[in-house]
Amino acid sequence: MTCDVLVIGAGAAGMAAALSALEAGAGTVFLIDRDTRLGGVLPQCLHSGFGEVIFRQELTGAQYAARWAARVEAAPICLRLDTTVLAVSPERRALLSGPAGVEEVSFRALVLAAGCREVPIGALALPGTRPAGVFTAGQAQRMVNLEGLTLGRDAVILGSGDVGLVMARQLTLAGCQVSAVVEQRERCGGLPRNYRRSIVECGIPLLTRTTVSRVHGAGRVRGVTLRQLDTGEERFQPCDTLITALGMVPERELLRPLGNPLPSWVFLCGNCHHIHRTVDTVSLQGAQAGREAAALALESGAAG
Ligand SMILES: Cc1cc2nc3c(=O)[nH]c(=O)nc-3n(C[C@H](O)[C@H](O)[C@H](O)COP(=O)(O)OP(=O)(O)OC[C@H]3O[C@@H](n4cnc5c(N)ncnc54)[C@H](O)[C@@H]3O)c2cc1C
Repeated sequence: MTCDVLVIGAGAAGMAAALSALEAGAGTVFLIDRDTRLGGVLPQCLHSGFGEVIFRQELTGAQYAARWAARVEAAPICLRLDTTVLAVSPERRALLSGPAGVEEVSFRALVLAAGCREVPIGALALPGTRPAGVFTAGQAQRMVNLEGLTLGRDAVILGSGDVGLVMARQLTLAGCQVSAVVEQRERCGGLPRNYRRSIVECGIPLLTRTTVSRVHGAGRVRGVTLRQLDTGEERFQPCDTLITALGMVPERELLRPLGNPLPSWVFLCGNCHHIHRTVDTVSLQGAQAGREAAALALESGAAG
């Protein structure tokens, strides 16, 4: 199989990139995602606050994804879901694994829109056992919103960025007691609107200059030790769930074999370029990457 532009990842960035590559004249555009649906993290975001720039409306993440997905599905894009890109080679070939088995596709330009990874709790030097009941925020959001699962009755959230705040509110609305959002810095890390909706409106205590210094429990979390960083004072906080929102790292593993600097035919966009605060900038950057990839593909097609 061959194509002009191969887009890896069909979240906000990848969908915009594939559409704009097509509009900019690329003949064949492949859009690949290992998930079985379009949208990346968006379908699990049921809160509003998406699309204020592009649609001039406050949509939920799922609504924002649905608008873009409708355009992708109506366009002559070669869409492969449930398909993982296993490797990309310097010879401009990608190895795919999907329902049809393992296949190779050659391309002229590559857009990497593979999103990001959450920093796991293992990244902290945290003593204690590793009981059940510890989740990253994204994992928790997916389990609650897409899989309809209940995580626990009493939670502590570690990290006050937007993702931690959104989960604090959602768990509260779902009937879980959130006893604290814990933040090592001096102030809340999230957007003012998320601070208002979660901390103020839900009445959740925000403990700044504080961290979790120990996880307790055998089998299931039964509490955490909270340490005040200025005084060193520690106290036990009972909980059966610990949600970690420790930040995100761009997902670029596939590019490793391509060396540094990257070849001119590679374009990065969305959270695998840098971690964006809002989805609008992700879509705009995706569209730009798609246009640039199409231009390079057309140029190298003419030369070859
Ligand atoms: C909890 C949460 C709340 C948020 N709240 C807001 C908000 O209120 N307002 C707002 O504007 N923004 C918000 N955002 C930010 C915004 O949703 C994201 O920045 C944006 O959706 C990221 O898009 P992306 O395409 O870069 O990545 P993703 O959506 O992560 O998409 C990457 C895709 O790549 C696929 N992929 C990765 N590797 C491979 C591979 N090897 N092979 C095949 N497929 C692969 C993945 O399956 C995934 O579908 C929020 C984000 C989160 C997580």
